[in-house]
Order: sequence, then C-alpha cells, then structure tokens
Amino acid sequence: MMDSFQKNLLNYGRKAIFYPISTQENPNIVMKTKLILSIFFGVLLWSCSQNTENQEVKTTPTKQADFALAIHGGAGTILKENMTPEQDAAYRAKLKEALDAGYAVLESGCTALDAVVSAVMVMEDSPLFNAGKGAVFTNEGKNEMDAAIMNGIDRNAGAVAGLTKVKNPITAARAVMENSPHVFMTGAGAEQFAEEQNLEFVSPDYFYTDFRFEQLEKIRETEKTELDHSSLLEMELGDPFFKDRKFGTVGAVALDKNGNIAAATSTGGMTNKRYGRVGDVPIIGAGTYADNETCAVSATGHGEYFIRNVVGHEIASLIRYGRKSLSEAADEVVMKQLVEMGGSGGIISIDRNGNIAMPFNSEGMYRGYRKAGEEAKTFIYKDEN
Ligand code: ASP
Repeated sequence: MMDSFQKNLLNYGRKAIFYPISTQENPNIVMKTKLILSIFFGVLLWSCSQNTENQEVKTTPTKQADFALAIHGGAGTILKENMTPEQDAAYRAKLKEALDAGYAVLESGCTALDAVVSAVMVMEDSPLFNAGKGAVFTNEGKNEMDAAIMNGIDRNAGAVAGLTKVKNPITAARAVMENSPHVFMTGAGAEQFAEEQNLEFVSPDYFYTDFRFEQLEKIRETEKTELDHSSLLEMELGDPFFKDRKFGTVGAVALDKNGNIAAATSTGGMTNKRYGRVGDVPIIGAGTYADNETCAVSATGHGEYFIRNVVGHEIASLIRYGRKSLSEAADEVVMKQLVEMGGSGGIISIDRNGNIAMPFNSEGMYRGYRKAGEEAKTFIYKDEN
C-alpha cells in the first residue's frame, strides 16, 4: 500500500511524464524535465525502501535467509590437561552430532524452534552432559530437571522445572509453550501435563550415571553445598576432583531460512541442590531468551548469578536500547557484569543476521556452531576459536 507521500510523488511524476510541453523546441526544458524525472524516481525508490525496512522490523520476513545454529554443552573448569584424548574426542563427536541434527532440520526448511529441540535432544540423550541422561543429583540423590524454550517470532515461551520422569525435558517445555495457556510449570503438575501430552516417560533410574553420583557423594562427604561459594572455592583449589568441576547444561540457538530465531536450554541444575532449588535455565529472560528483533540466548553457569543478572534479557536490552552489536552486548554481560558479581559461566547467542557470539568467563565451554553451506565447528577450551 502506498502512503499519501508516495501517491503525491506518483501524481507529480505522471504530470511530468504526460505534459512535457513543447520540449522538442527547447533543449533547456528537456534537460530540466529529465532532471525532475530522475529526482522523482530516485525519491520514490528511496521512499519505498524506507517502508520495506520498517516492515522488516515489525513482521516476519518472507525472504529466505541464510540459516545457522550454535550449541553449548556447559561451561566450567574445563582444562586440556584434565581431559584424556578419548574424552576430548567423545565430547567433540557428540557436539558435532547435535549440530548436524539441528542443521539437517534447518536445511530442510523447518523452523528454528524444531532445530533447537533436535539439537538439545541429542545432548539430553547423552550421559556426557548435565541434562536428561547424566543429569546431576540433588542432595536427596534424585535427578530433577529444568528446561525452557522460546520462539523469537512472537516471544512465546514454555518452561518446566523439577521433572523426574520425562525422558526429554525440552519436549515438555515445548508442549507447555504450544499446548497450554501457561509459560512455566513445575514438579508433579508439569509431569501430569506432560503425561496428558503423551510425552515419553522413563523410570527415574534412567537418568542415573556413576560419574554424577560420585560427584554428589564427594560433595556430601565434605558436607558442603555448591551454594556455599567460599567453601566451594577452597575445595576447587585443594582437590583435583573439583578441578574438573563444570556446568554441563545444554542449549541451542538457531536462525531458520525464514529469518526467525529460537532458543532452548535443558539442565539437571547444580549438584547437591536442595529445597526445590530452580536455576536460571527455565527462567525466561535469565538462562533462555529469544526475540527476532534482538537475539536468541541460551546460558550455562552458576544459575543464581544468571537469574540476578537476567542475562538473556540484559543482552537483548543492550542491543535494543544500547544499540550494541550482538558480540558487544554478550561480552558486556558475560565478561563484565557477571565477572564483577562473581558469576561463572557463558552463553551462546545468535541474531537474525546470522551473527553468533559465544563468550564465557570460565576456563572452557563445550560449544560449536554450523552455518549454511559450512561444516560443523566444535570448541572446548579457551584458546580455540
Ligand atoms: N545454569 C545451570 C543451573 O544453575 C547449571 C549449568 O549451567 O550447568 O541450574
């Protein structure tokens, strides 16, 4: 639809075209008419392009964009000297598998939402990460999982906390978003809903791994909790076991062919958590956030700090109001604001132009990305990029 400014221009142009009075006799008039016509069409073009730009900000573009996705498998004290070549290879292979799963979904023309769920499910099914199978244990020796998903098109979101029997918690988060009027469900209610949605259930034993249980026993022995920060730091410095401490949450962000972005995150939380503790992951705006106009973010790290800093939304706000680029905004929050508070961890993020930023302030972060037409790239340590 043309606005009145464009209509006036068009009328003026018609006049200029249909009434070139006695131009043949007067070369000056010919030149002037040509000049007016070129200005007219120039301004008309400019005016249309302005309108198009405005529309793109407000609506879903129909143009096919390049697609891309990024994932993480947790941040923490991940040092090369503490990893065997076999462990290193196993993590990279699983990260690649998750990236390739998400990529295939995007390549086939499906949504960013479908892609982040596919990538996250691969990592939930792997005992290498603290999500789904391999989730950490609570103080009572249970696995209680949290997950969230958000769609950048309309900022619709779904989240669950304290799940003990749903095989892939990210599917429950998606069901909350798509099939309920709510955003966040917890515990027994969330599982009742998941059952009604016919999601896959497993026995709580399914999530058990020796490695995670030993982690809990080690912490229990010392009667310390991970919420006791100074004692934890002492343990980390003095005990080689804790040198390997990491946050193994998994997450994905993606941009699809239609220019829409989405984020998904899934976690077992933090080892030895108590009293129904819920971390940042299922809190929309903290560990998980997506908005087409700014960015999609998935976080991993010490959840309490990510909640207090509203990390995902803070990054989006720095883009929206602070006019920062994605990487400037992500660095500002992860490398400055969180560091100043003492919050360890990192994030992955993407915007609708396919820019990706993955800063972390810990020793390492399992991470990777894959862009349209490119191979998957995976990274673990600080000095890789
Ligand atoms: N952010 C998660 C939490 O605090 C932990 C993690 O990233 O592994 O629950």
